[in-house]
Amino acid sequence: MTRVYVLGAGAGAAYRGSYLGETSPVAKNFFQKAMRVINIHQIRERYYEDEDMTYNHIFQFIERLWGVSRNEVSNSNLDMEEVLTLLNIEMEEDQPGRERLLKAYEEYLLLMALTFDKILYGDLCPYHSKIAASLNPGDTIISFNYELLMDYALLRANLQRKMWCIQDGYGISCRYLSGSIMPLHSKHQNDSGPANCAKVKLLKLHGSLNWLYCPQCGQLYAYEHSDGGGHSVVINGIANMIQCTSQHCCNKLSRVIIPPTLMKNYQSIPFIPELWHQARRALGFASEIVVIGYSFPTTDFRSNWMFRKAMVDNKELKKVTIVDKAEGYQLETLLDKHKSIFRVKDVDFYPDIGAFTQTLK
Ligand SMILES: [Zn+2]
Repeated sequence: MTRVYVLGAGAGAAYRGSYLGETSPVAKNFFQKAMRVINIHQIRERYYEDEDMTYNHIFQFIERLWGVSRNEVSNSNLDMEEVLTLLNIEMEEDQPGRERLLKAYEEYLLLMALTFDKILYGDLCPYHSKIAASLNPGDTIISFNYELLMDYALLRANLQRKMWCIQDGYGISCRYLSGSIMPLHSKHQNDSGPANCAKVKLLKLHGSLNWLYCPQCGQLYAYEHSDGGGHSVVINGIANMIQCTSQHCCNKLSRVIIPPTLMKNYQSIPFIPELWHQARRALGFASEIVVIGYSFPTTDFRSNWMFRKAMVDNKELKKVTIVDKAEGYQLETLLDKHKSIFRVKDVDFYPDIGAFTQTLK
């Protein structure tokens, strides 16, 4: 019996532990929320060191393409993924403006990382924690989210259960990064740690807010928001002050946040196709699949292909569970889509993640 969880934006929507009292941003309300927290630089003991960030380049880009000024952004209907995708396209098309656009891109990824980090800073999510505590060796979590609710739940659950670790829990080799600039310390078990410590995998197919990778040697790093000295890794990471620690490398690190609409970017970061491959394999062997808050958007062709392809090979599937707050006609359409993708006549359905996690042992 292996279980595969699939987490979409809806999985984080029920989180109520935020110290700011906010709910998790989604693509449609990201800018409203981002502007509400942009001038918050400290939450409890967590200091963000972002007073000097102006985000001029990204706001200029938005004004140029959408005619929406910085002051109007919070009342606009700008979509987080659309801005990221169009910025990526413009970076390819506008070579003379590339420097400026690259700055806009880095600022935007920082704005995303900080906004999610500020808003989701709070108590551990009880629903993600229940899922983490219920996992058995061989289970897999496939996530389309950038945020870290599941990551934190797994780290915490791991204190008792020893099921997940940073080193290989993301499906590829990863090093722990602390915030000090020079020299860069890798933290905890790090390089000398066991290579096969994770018995369950968290596969984040669109990247993660805490990931930095080295474009030169391909090494992936994951950070906590700040080290013991209070240095904000989020800020240092974007300021290109953190370097790869691989021998003879020392290259500057980049973020890994991939808009679902940009297929070819999947290929530009070598380990991303590997994660997708692992996700497809896990789905192909799953006897139970639980989909939480993910509706197979038609624009996410890569994902739709992966699920359908995996189901062609799956001979084990016994049970499909859908957790979603859709209602009425929308819900019917959604369930039909799931039945078509997983090739089953029936699915179990729960209208919210709390009702579902109550059923977990
Ligand atoms: Zn490197």
